[in-house]
Amino acid sequence: MRSSITNYLTIDVEDYFHVSAFEKISPPSTWAGRECRVERNTDLILNILDEYKVKATFFILGWVAERYPQLTKKIASQGHEIACHGYLHQRLSLQDRGTYREDICKAKGILEDQIGAPVLGYRAPSYSITRETSWAFDELIEAGFKYDSSIFPMKHDFYGIPDWPRFSGYAVKTEQGWQSSDSVLPDQPSIYELPITTLKLGHKNLPIAGGGYFRLLPYAVTQWGLKRINQQEQQPFVFYLHPWEFDPQQPRMAGASAKSRFRHYLNLSRTEKRFRRLLSDFKFGSIRDGLQF
Ligand SMILES: [Zn+2]
Repeated sequence: MRSSITNYLTIDVEDYFHVSAFEKISPPSTWAGRECRVERNTDLILNILDEYKVKATFFILGWVAERYPQLTKKIASQGHEIACHGYLHQRLSLQDRGTYREDICKAKGILEDQIGAPVLGYRAPSYSITRETSWAFDELIEAGFKYDSSIFPMKHDFYGIPDWPRFSGYAVKTEQGWQSSDSVLPDQPSIYELPITTLKLGHKNLPIAGGGYFRLLPYAVTQWGLKRINQQEQQPFVFYLHPWEFDPQQPRMAGASAKSRFRHYLNLSRTEKRFRRLLSDFKFGSIRDGLQF
């Protein structure tokens, strides 16, 4: 039985050479010389979403939007939400605060000029808002963002705040730093946070809602875990994929480590079929349509 809960479908629009797993072998100075496949891969996703009559939130990398302004406009014209994935896809721990401020403001400005409307949502490159980089919240509020979807409440080698709540709520600034809260005090700095959904099994939060985990796990496991969140916990989940995950023919990155190759290239040929099943089995919408900001 399909749950009546509307989940959040999110697409991080970047190309295969932007991912953090390749950051050492693919610095921004090399990007202009690489074969770009993001436009065709995003088109494929748009066609599938149209077929299933589903709207999504697209977190677009500023570097991509600058080169493919028609892509941003096309996504917006089909009723999807345009949100921001920063400009250069550098993990926050590798940036100072001033560089970060410039990066998010540049990306937001490009997107807003292209669609002629405010961009409310942000997702950090590689979910890289952690306890150490939570100063990013101050910068996101200053830049005018209303919500963030960057926190992965689990342990991982690149990201994660394992003890952050698994479901949406406010991130508020307190004397002890940024904390989650159901409410906001007058004059308290705050931003709405939609963490990437995890599955709680025992005391562990496990990844279940997209990306490499969606390609790694048999679809039946993903389906079981996500149903559990909708039906037992009565909560929507935040699901994410990238255009390059639909592209088994993408050029292979020379010099990548075995771990990065495994994570990046695993089961790319299965993504589309699994994605179609996901869209049949669960109800989805964009973040903007589900929440009033
Ligand atoms: Zn990304």
